[in-house]
Amino acid sequence: MAEVSSPIAVDSPDARRYNRMRRWLGIADFVVGFVFLVVLLVTGWTGWLRDLAYRLGFQNYSLSVFIYLFLLLVISKAITLGLDYYGFRLERRYKLSTQRFGAWAWDETKGFLVGLVIGGIVVELLYFTLRQWPQHWWMLAWALFMVLFIVLAQLAPVVLFPIFYKFEPLDNEDLRRRLVVLSERAGTRVRGVYRWRLSEKSKKANAALTGLGATRRIILADTLLDNYSAEEIEAVLAHELGHHVHRHILKSIFVQATITFVGFWAANWVLHYAVDQHMFEELSDFANLPLLALVSIVLSFLLMPALNAYSRFNERQADRYAFESIESVAPFISSMNKLAEQNLAERAPSKWVEWFFHSHPSISRRLAAAEAWDRLQSVHPHA
Ligand SMILES: [Zn+2]
Repeated sequence: MAEVSSPIAVDSPDARRYNRMRRWLGIADFVVGFVFLVVLLVTGWTGWLRDLAYRLGFQNYSLSVFIYLFLLLVISKAITLGLDYYGFRLERRYKLSTQRFGAWAWDETKGFLVGLVIGGIVVELLYFTLRQWPQHWWMLAWALFMVLFIVLAQLAPVVLFPIFYKFEPLDNEDLRRRLVVLSERAGTRVRGVYRWRLSEKSKKANAALTGLGATRRIILADTLLDNYSAEEIEAVLAHELGHHVHRHILKSIFVQATITFVGFWAANWVLHYAVDQHMFEELSDFANLPLLALVSIVLSFLLMPALNAYSRFNERQADRYAFESIESVAPFISSMNKLAEQNLAERAPSKWVEWFFHSHPSISRRLAAAEAWDRLQSVHPHA
């Protein structure tokens, strides 16, 4: 492996600036959302919005809940539109996006509508349970939420993703054969591999394992398929297969279930406290939605380092699976180097940035792990 780069790679100023700006955008987005929710509650504007929703919804509870959500989403979109646009400009500035403004704006519109539909289902379920079973609503709401979550995980590859991207079954015979060999060795089967037309929007490369049951599939971006060698793509496939073999999607659903259980319990506690403090007259007053949203985003923020640590653990496991199933780690290493360059990734972010923000180990760590595994293999070939 003569051409292997040093694991302690130095990042270009461009990569550092780009990733720093993206992090600041993420933080700004969180802060703006947080302040917006607090302002709604403190000023009492949420009550005014609720009354407006009732007037527009002919005093019908369910309809008014939906209108209230719609108003809330429109206002928050208007507030964060500047940040979203800045994010788009940032991708353009670093030549990572291939989208024009019109296509980007259309994607934003579709994203908003998808959010409205999914959000609509969630709030209707939430306030239905709050109204019918004020004592034990949170356990039932949690169960319904998990059912919805699992249904969405199953539908996502066939219903949600195609709203934004085109997919077609992979027609590369050589790669299909390689996957069959890898899968047989693992004693498992992934139903499909799809070519993901990412190049219409981005220069970045990506791959993922998605779906549940019949919709379980590996998706490979065309930006990867068209620029990487067969061995490099096989290494990426092996990593994705590692997620499948280690049942990472199922495990993540269990983790999600535990967290949302605690989340709903906390939401119930906070809502009761707010009613006791006479902020709202009853639990089912949907003007308390910003309070529920606050519980959710604060909890997500606090758990982010732990969830990212868990995700990095899974990624290391999938990497190790890839090392074991491919003939040599050299194509894994070269694919990582290509990915880092193509996606303008930070190979060696600061320790705390990785700890807090990153769902994947840094490229430098993944390369170091591959090299260490390779060294071990050459010492103990049959280990
Ligand atoms: Zn992965």
